[in-house]
Amino acid sequence: MEMTNGQRNRLIKKELTKKYGSDNVSVVGGMGAAYGWAEVHIYTEKPETCYCKETESYCLECCKEINKKREEASKLIYAIPNIEFYTYNSDDAYNTESDCLSIQVSINN
Ligand SMILES: [Zn+2]
Repeated sequence: MEMTNGQRNRLIKKELTKKYGSDNVSVVGGMGAAYGWAEVHIYTEKPETCYCKETESYCLECCKEINKKREEASKLIYAIPNIEFYTYNSDDAYNTESDCLSIQVSINN
């Protein structure tokens, strides 16, 4: 690792802030068992096509928006020069190696 977790997280925050605004981006380092993880949270507006009712889960349009934002943010993050993450092996049958990066997207009410 060339940079510390804190430096890396600040870079991610800076990059995502350009796109979403600093109020809508949170980047924290994982603690305890999640140490080394970069936990990214993005808050976004409801899509115009939203048809969420007073239910607890998001409508399909919101889910699409969330997936879109997550992919977009992931691309922005991986475009940062020299960005590196710890990796973990998932316990699927293939023992796939994945980065310790979690991107959560929430829709503002
Ligand atoms: Zn919705």
